[in-house]
Amino acid sequence: MSKLRFKVVEDAFRKRPVEVKTPTERPSEYFAKYVFNQEKMFKYLPLSTYRKLRQVIEEGAPLSIEVADEVAKGMKQWAMDMGVTHCTHWFQPLTEGTAEKHDAFVEHDFKGGMVENFSGKELVQQEPDASSFPNGGIRSTFEARGYSAWDPASPVFIVGDTLMIPTVFISYTGEALDYKAPLKKALAAVDKAATKVARYFDPEVTHVQANLGWEQEYFLVDEGLYAARPDLLLTGRTLMGHDSAKNQQMEDHYFGAIPERVAEFMRDLEIQALELGIPCKTRHNEVAPNQFELAPIFEECNLAVDHNMLLMSLMRNVARRHGFRCLLHEKPFAGINGSGKHNNWSLSTNTGTLLYAPGKTPEDSLRFITFVVETLMAVYKHNGVLKASIMSATNAHRLGANEAPPAIISSFLGKQVSELLDKVEHSTKEELFTMEGKHGVKLDIPQIPELYIDNTDRNRTSPFAFTGNRFEFRAVGSIANCASAMIALNAAVAEALENFYTRVEALIAKGESKIGAILDVLREDIKTCRPIHFDGNGYSDEWKAEAARRGLDCETSCPLIFDRYLDDSTVKMFESTHVMNRHELEARNEIKWETYQKKIQIEARVLGDLCMNHIIPVATKYQSELVDNVHKIQQTFSDPEKVKELTAYNIDLIEKINKHTSFIAENVEEMVEKRKVVNKIENIRELAIAYHDEIAPYFDAIRYHIDKLELIVEDEMWTLPKYRELLFIR
Ligand code: ADP
Ligand code: MG
Repeated sequence: MSKLRFKVVEDAFRKRPVEVKTPTERPSEYFAKYVFNQEKMFKYLPLSTYRKLRQVIEEGAPLSIEVADEVAKGMKQWAMDMGVTHCTHWFQPLTEGTAEKHDAFVEHDFKGGMVENFSGKELVQQEPDASSFPNGGIRSTFEARGYSAWDPASPVFIVGDTLMIPTVFISYTGEALDYKAPLKKALAAVDKAATKVARYFDPEVTHVQANLGWEQEYFLVDEGLYAARPDLLLTGRTLMGHDSAKNQQMEDHYFGAIPERVAEFMRDLEIQALELGIPCKTRHNEVAPNQFELAPIFEECNLAVDHNMLLMSLMRNVARRHGFRCLLHEKPFAGINGSGKHNNWSLSTNTGTLLYAPGKTPEDSLRFITFVVETLMAVYKHNGVLKASIMSATNAHRLGANEAPPAIISSFLGKQVSELLDKVEHSTKEELFTMEGKHGVKLDIPQIPELYIDNTDRNRTSPFAFTGNRFEFRAVGSIANCASAMIALNAAVAEALENFYTRVEALIAKGESKIGAILDVLREDIKTCRPIHFDGNGYSDEWKAEAARRGLDCETSCPLIFDRYLDDSTVKMFESTHVMNRHELEARNEIKWETYQKKIQIEARVLGDLCMNHIIPVATKYQSELVDNVHKIQQTFSDPEKVKELTAYNIDLIEKINKHTSFIAENVEEMVEKRKVVNKIENIRELAIAYHDEIAPYFDAIRYHIDKLELIVEDEMWTLPKYRELLFIR
């Protein structure tokens, strides 16, 4: 390693955490220490207020300002007992990450001093200066006002000296400017539709909850090395870098021991996450070197999304205290696996039934089939928009590559569920059930053995796989807000279940029995959604051709994939479920296109700068040394044959360097000129398409030549940390 880069690594290595938390208590004792949870509500609120707040949380009852005032008073007391001085509304704007605006708990006491104050109004509603958050033209600048409103379903928590209040962020006209507002609406829609359908099987059901268990993948790199890579710093990924001689081919990282420094980071992270009420459960190495995963126990979807957002910011902070940087980009390094965030999703009832668990009786089995088939209907009908919901400039690197879900949405069911659906489709109604007396029904639907739940045959290539008692949406990107995927999925499933319910009710109204009607509709739907079901290898070329024949969305261009949000069928789905209207969808798409274009633009600039300031100068300097050497040989030896022999190798290198640097210089210049041309395009969608089609293709072409130079230029001279250094933590 060069002296320069070695120093950088050493510095990072020496930088030990200021203080690693090592609590003496057990996790159960410090879990949710910083969360205003039920236990603290009970302790800090008057009983009548406590009861009213539980109603708000559990039943969605409205929150009156009087109750809010009482709640705020209790919260303030708790917060001050914990040494807190500020509060902030915490929300999820349509950019990456979260946003907050801090206010101190103080007010004038009108006697020349200050008093600590925090009112119900401050708790419930705030007006952050919203003009700088992307809104896709929903708020014209003269009325650049949005407000944030408390989401009582997600508990308030403390970070440092600040009370954090999870909020939705909406415009004064009521349109969503964030992820949380439409997510809550999608969850309400799926609750309503799934409850109606679940009641066919259990009349006790009054409420259905969507669950989410995410698996967060990430990379760690030394902070010092990170700082010496302007591309990582500015774009989140390496735009250049030759493969390390060893990367993941030995597959030794996945099963290897977690390096001590990393284990320390993980311990610290988990303790802090547990204190914030995030139920961390699993940690392990991932396939690529320096890649890891953290997964909690699944939770109600809205809360799980908040917890994931919170965890991502925690990861970034804790990593820095350990001399690391945490990379959440989906593809920080070429040639090795990228990072995703599998979203394990299911529905469960207030009566404690997991609706995707096969169950023990033929009735359970019918309920199971109903929910599986209607979910497939949703995924089939909206496979394009589901793909759009997980698509981004960064996740685009991962999808379709030979490691991660392909860029075509399909669903894996496994042998047993497939056979079950086949049986229902191909049996006659009489074979499946018989009426016994007036109300009695005898069902003959096979059950799936319970054992199966833990023994699902795994198909790692499927973007939407059934895994025993849930579906696993694997295409979600590691840096994404899970809400985007969860909004689309829950709304689509809500629409499918509503549709199912309407058709079953129509048949019942015509005199069909309930079970008969359910079976009729299911058998029709099993046929209809057949194209989305695929248990084979999602990475194969045959599948790409087959998927196209089946009419599935096979588009790979990110800006074009976003178009699916504005298809009539998509707008209808979001409007009928009251999740978003066309105007909101249009506004959000503008933000998507703009974000895409800006990211590619930044990458193009960073790549251009690095080429001109690092790569070409370094390569030229080395080339000059080679030229010097050739000159000296020529001066030293008089025999032309001898000179030729001694200089041949270096002359060849000099020419190679020239070939690579010329290509780089010419292409960077061309790319800059192209940018000037396309930047004149005013329509944001067209601009994004132009960046995708005309600018992005330069990246790999230029990179190829940079990586060749990295192999030629003397190690000592190369300024940028190399893959082998970035990827192996000591
Ligand atoms: P994997 O084998 O894919 O790593 P795990 O069994 O570790 O999966 O679980 C991954 C995530 O799925 C965890 O967050 C877990 O809590 C969650 N999960 C398990 N069952 C369900 C379910 N029924 N609904 C939603 N999430 C679930
Ligand atoms: Mg998984």
